[in-house]
Amino acid sequence: MTSRKGSEMTIAGAGPAEVDVAIVGAGLAGTTLATVLGRAGRKVALIDPHQTHPDEFRAEKLGTGQSRLFEKLGLDSIVLPLMTAMDDIHVFRLGQLFSRDRRLEHGFSYGALINGLRAALPREVPVTVAKVAEITTGPDKQRLVLNTGAVIEARLVVVATGHSEAVRRAVGVRRIEESKAHSLSIGFDLATPPGECGFQAVTCFGRRAEDRVAYLSVFPIGGVMRGNMFVYRQAGEPWTKAFRKDPQKMLCELMPEIAAQCGNFKIDEPVEVRPIDLTRTEGHRRDGVVFVGDAFCTTCPTPGVGIERVMTDVDQLHSVHIPRWLETPGMAADKISAFYDDPVKVAADENGMRVSYYAREITTATGLEWRIRRLRNNTARQLMIVGRKMRHLGQRRANSVSGEAS
Ligand SMILES: Cc1cc2nc3c(=O)[nH]c(=O)nc-3n(C[C@H](O)[C@H](O)[C@H](O)COP(=O)(O)OP(=O)(O)OC[C@H]3O[C@@H](n4cnc5c(N)ncnc54)[C@H](O)[C@@H]3O)c2cc1C
Repeated sequence: MTSRKGSEMTIAGAGPAEVDVAIVGAGLAGTTLATVLGRAGRKVALIDPHQTHPDEFRAEKLGTGQSRLFEKLGLDSIVLPLMTAMDDIHVFRLGQLFSRDRRLEHGFSYGALINGLRAALPREVPVTVAKVAEITTGPDKQRLVLNTGAVIEARLVVVATGHSEAVRRAVGVRRIEESKAHSLSIGFDLATPPGECGFQAVTCFGRRAEDRVAYLSVFPIGGVMRGNMFVYRQAGEPWTKAFRKDPQKMLCELMPEIAAQCGNFKIDEPVEVRPIDLTRTEGHRRDGVVFVGDAFCTTCPTPGVGIERVMTDVDQLHSVHIPRWLETPGMAADKISAFYDDPVKVAADENGMRVSYYAREITTATGLEWRIRRLRNNTARQLMIVGRKMRHLGQRRANSVSGEAS
C-alpha cells in the first residue's frame, strides 16, 4: 500500500508515510492544526474515515472572541467567507427587550465549515481517508496501521477524534463523565427566511427557573434562519418528547415576546436534539501521543466556549509546544506533559467547565444562594429596562416640547 515517490515514501493517493506529526481526526481541531503545521513546513498526515464531514448539529455561531483565535492563526480568510455575518442582535430578558448587541458574530453550518477548511489544506497535507486499525506509541517513534493496509510512522500522534472513543480506547485512555446528561442542545430551521424575520438575530433567555431554558438564539446561516436552544432537560423526558412533537406550540408558549417576529416559530424540518455530557480524560500523559479538543474534554454548548477551548489547544500546540518537541530527539511523556500543564490551556479548559456549571445553576438551581443570585441579577436587569424606558420617555417629551416651541 506504500510506494516511493521521489525520495519520499508516500501512501497511495495520500500524504507521506513518514511524518513529523500524524493527526487522527479531521474535524475542527485536526484540520486547523494540520493547516497551520503544514504552512510552517512540517510534514503532517491527517487521517479521517470520512472524505466529506457530515452536516452534523454542532457549534453554529462564532462570537467575536472566537473569531480572534482564527485571526491569530491566519485562518480567518478561510473561515469567514464560509459564514454569515450579523451585527445587530436583539437580546430579550424577563420577557422584554433588554439590549441590542452591535458586536460582530457569525452563523455557520458545522459540516460546511469543516469541509471548507479541508478544501483549503496545504497541498502537502491531504486528508487520508481511512480508519486507524492499529496504533503503537512510544518515546521515539509512533506507528499507525490504517484499515487500508497503509502504515504511517510519525514522531508525534495527535488524537483529535472528538467524541469518538475507538482511537482513545486503543491508546488506553479513559473518559470520565463529570456531568452526564448535563443539558440538551436543540437545533432547528425556521420556515421564515432571514429577510422576512423581524430581527437580524435574536437571543431570548428563559423567564422562569422551572422552564429550565437557558436561552434560544435565532440567527441567519445563508438563506435560512436557524434556531439553537439550550435547555436543562433529559432526552427521554415528557417535555422533550412534547417539544419534538410540536416545537411551534411550545416555543410560542415559552417565548411569546419574540414569536410574531420569528414567523410564529413555524419550523421547516424536524428538530435535532443532542444530549450533552461534560467529560474529561484520565491516563493521557503518555509517550508519543497528545489529545486535543473534544478528544480531551467536552464542555456545555450553552456558554458557547467549545470552539475557544479547541482553538486554544490548536494555538498552544502549534505556536509553543510542537516546535519545541520536534527540536530535540524523543517524544516521551514528560515532554508532552508540558501541554497539559500549559497555563493558557488549563485556564481555557477550567473556564469551559466552570461556565458550564454556572450556566446551569443560575438557570435552574433552587437552593437559597442561587435564588438570591437570580433575584439580584433580575432586579438589576429590571432596573436597567425601567431606566431605559424612562430615558426614552424623557427624550420624547423633550422632543415634543421643542417641537411645540419652534
Ligand atoms: C449540539 C452541539 C452544539 C454546540 N454548540 C456550540 C456552540 O454554540 N459554541 C461553541 O463554542 N461550541 C459548541 N459546541 C462544541 C463544539 O462543536 C466542539 O467543541 C468542537 O466542534 C469540537 O471539535 P473537535 O475537532 O474536537 O471534534 P470534531 O470536530 O467532532 O472532529 C472529530 C473528527 O474526528 C473524526 N474521527 C472520529 N473517529 C475517528 C477515527 N476512529 N479515526 C479518525 N478520525 C476519526 C471525525 O470524523 C471528525 O472529523 C457544540 C457541540 C454540540 C455537540
